[in-house]
Amino acid sequence: MDSDAGDSIPRGDSTYEVVKDEFPPPRRDSWDLYFMKIARQVASRGTCSRKKVGCVIVRDRTILATGYNGSIRGMPHCDDVGHMMENGHCTRTVHAEQNAIAQAARNGVSVMGSDLYVTSSPCWTCFKIVANSGIRRIVFGEFYRDDRIFEAAEFIGMELAWLDDDGELKVYIKGR
Ligand SMILES: [Zn+2]
Ligand SMILES: [Zn+2]
Repeated sequence: MDSDAGDSIPRGDSTYEVVKDEFPPPRRDSWDLYFMKIARQVASRGTCSRKKVGCVIVRDRTILATGYNGSIRGMPHCDDVGHMMENGHCTRTVHAEQNAIAQAARNGVSVMGSDLYVTSSPCWTCFKIVANSGIRRIVFGEFYRDDRIFEAAEFIGMELAWLDDDGELKVYIKGR
């Protein structure tokens, strides 16, 4: 290409100057903290007052799906009709992780190779579904109950990490 091809670009009258703030802006949240904060917001929509959990599935810094714990679509919520107690647990709700994966399925979105952010560590059933859906990394906000997830994550090579409220990431199990 001709080295002076730029000569043909029309010249307008735009003018600007670069102005830097006197004080640099505060440090931005990490991507992990950013998505966990969104997951916390999603959790606020949960419909079982015994525990509200939120989940965000992300790939390439893009949100693929969200989910919170709530009843089967069309059925009444715990908050309206009471909990469905079984062996000391409420079983009325679909868990946040399962709802996020179901949302992706409804829309035909693959979650293969994605990261899952969830405000509480997955229960055993959710972990199994998350693993088999092709999600490669789980970041949780608090440890909930089931420690089998650590052994299983190690076995299958899935990263499992805890992100504390200050945004510090502690990787328990490294992915491979
Ligand atoms: Zn409930
Ligand atoms: Zn669960």
